Amino acid sequence: MKIETKAIHSGDRKADPDKPGAFVPVTTPVYTAASYIYESTAKLDRVLGGEEPGYCYARYDNPTNAALEELMTSLENGHGALACSSGMTAIHIALLAALTDRPKSILAASALYGATTSLLTKVLEPLGIEINFVDICDLDAIREKIAGSKPGCVLMETISNPLLRVGDMDRIAELARAAGAALVVDSTFATPLLLRPLEHGAHIAVHSLTKFLSGHGDVLGGIIVADQDHSEVIRSLGRTVGPTLGPFESYLTMRGIKTFALRMERHCSNACRVASWLSSHPGVARVHYLADANHPDAAVIRRLFPDGLYGAIVTFELKDGTKEDVFHFMDALNLVVRATSLGDVHSTLLYPVIASHRDIAPKQRERMGIHDGLVRLCVGIEAVDDIIADLEQALASVS
Ligand code: PLP
Repeated sequence: MKIETKAIHSGDRKADPDKPGAFVPVTTPVYTAASYIYESTAKLDRVLGGEEPGYCYARYDNPTNAALEELMTSLENGHGALACSSGMTAIHIALLAALTDRPKSILAASALYGATTSLLTKVLEPLGIEINFVDICDLDAIREKIAGSKPGCVLMETISNPLLRVGDMDRIAELARAAGAALVVDSTFATPLLLRPLEHGAHIAVHSLTKFLSGHGDVLGGIIVADQDHSEVIRSLGRTVGPTLGPFESYLTMRGIKTFALRMERHCSNACRVASWLSSHPGVARVHYLADANHPDAAVIRRLFPDGLYGAIVTFELKDGTKEDVFHFMDALNLVVRATSLGDVHSTLLYPVIASHRDIAPKQRERMGIHDGLVRLCVGIEAVDDIIADLEQALASVS
């Protein structure tokens, strides 16, 4: 089945083998029970021992989460999934799973979501896990760092934030696999409609469900989708650590995923129009967008995103923009929402200098190409002319 069909049908409508002929809900309901009762202790024993399918305790498993996990496994062409209470928890558990039975060393992309960098340097490094960073678009540097640091895990994002750089996932997976390391990919910006990391050699894909997959700005959640070798360890870590997503969030996410392919197509076509409009605006110094023929990773992008869907994120720089100019521009927006998230139906604009990259020293930020005039727009699914009109009046108010 195509992904648009799987998004609507996978995971739902489970008949209970113990109750043949019983009614089957068309969409999976919210199961709030913390534990489950069986007609005999012998049966409970078999379910707890994994000899029979069933649910015992909500931290181990829950029918609503199981439906979402089956759905995401299907969308990512994975082997198993674990629904978590946030994207950050999902990344944390995915890294622990990748390092099980491997050297306790992570080679990470230098451009990562800020909280992911903090997880590496403020949580995992103090616990004795070695952390090294590399430019994920420089294959020679990756080869060298893998040879030097012998990591157990390589961590990257499909599309980097906020400058939208794209590493060559197929080659990076080859390098990681040759060295016995696991490749973990945070694919939040891409979603399984644009690219499925496991099909490009990754061992584990992670998403913040908070973004495009749930899609309506009302869920905090994350998911790990693993290959056959890592599914069991992820489930086992889930049982022990308890990162479990709540069943109501799970339900809302499944509801969101049913329309995510449609939404993504509109996000992407709107973003293309907005990026091209911004590129010719005199008040804009530079636009970063994956469809740009002059993008530094254009060849890799054409190969990894063959369907011409390039995502919803457009990053741009106000000409000679100072922090004050950006504040003024943002305050002038009427439709586009000034908010720290992304992936919602509505357009959102974030200023990395005060949000995702706030804790990075100004000089280092400049070196990374994150200038004071840079903003990150996540283009929503409103009428694109309305989005452009709002940006136009806000830009005019700055100049
Ligand atoms: N990964 C990326 C690329 C993100 O942008 C975010 C949040 O913005 C996260 C992970 C963390 O997700 P959550 O906020 O659901 O924990």
